[in-house]
Amino acid sequence: MLLEGKKGLIIGLANKHSIAYGIAKKAHEHGAKLGFTYLNDAVKKRVEPIAKSFGSDITIPLDVTNPEDMENLKSRVEESLGNIDFLVHSIAFAPKDALSGKTIETKREDFLVAMEVSVYSLIGITQRLLPILNRDGSIVTLTYYGAEKFVPKYNVMGIAKSALESAVRYLAVDLGDRGIRVNGISAGPIKTLAASGIGDFRNLLKWNERHSPLGRNVTIDEVGGSAVYLLSDLAKGVTGEIHYVDSGYNIIGMPKEATEKLQ
Ligand code: NAD
Repeated sequence: MLLEGKKGLIIGLANKHSIAYGIAKKAHEHGAKLGFTYLNDAVKKRVEPIAKSFGSDITIPLDVTNPEDMENLKSRVEESLGNIDFLVHSIAFAPKDALSGKTIETKREDFLVAMEVSVYSLIGITQRLLPILNRDGSIVTLTYYGAEKFVPKYNVMGIAKSALESAVRYLAVDLGDRGIRVNGISAGPIKTLAASGIGDFRNLLKWNERHSPLGRNVTIDEVGGSAVYLLSDLAKGVTGEIHYVDSGYNIIGMPKEATEKLQ
């Protein structure tokens, strides 16, 4: 029960396949009291029963591009949960066009929306919730290997994830004197709604499976387990870090069968 007595807000649950679902499930198993946000009415219908299954009737509207939702976020969280101990930021978006062609073709408006939803939202949400975030609190966001290295079709999202990982480090410094920690989890590819927007995603799954030390892809439960660690007091000394839950894929410079192919 690593999160016994702790309260947290989960941002980014869309359905049972969401990484946020895996995190909420593990956090609930570890005794946390949870509140959830939802993007729109269609998502609300799916989030409410899921929240119930985790013993929560707290669902709050939040489209991070809607200034009214952002302004009301703090009071809504405060009314329903009071002060919180942790925040899970598990959202990203880029228009499908920007995730299929080449990076050089990226339109300004697609770039801006990707950066607003996937990067600025972490800063904007943290800014607003800071007054009700308890000392020694923890913030976790989700990133991907495409932030560090070229991954086909990831394009503008790779650029956004690089910025997000940098935001993790800068926020970690800003919040360090309150004991609040900010970390990212770099998850391996997982079939979710957001992932289906990435061109050739199935090949990405296959490639990771084939070239990771564990020889398989990761699950949302496994991401949830690492998130619970980072949200808990066990990780009290960990901040500004990117923690990999990717079957070890990030350590591979060259697939082990590559040299055989060259002979
Ligand atoms: P998902 O589709 O289940 O979750 C994405 C969430 O973002 C949804 O809940 C959606 O409602 C929310 N969202 C989109 N636009 C929003 C907006 N304007 N305001 C508020 N919320 C908005 O997919 P997921 O794969 O679970 O994605 C969660 C996070 O994990 C993302 O940051 C994603 O980049 C990251 N990630 C995913 C993978 C993967 O392979 N699935 C790998 C590494 C990192």
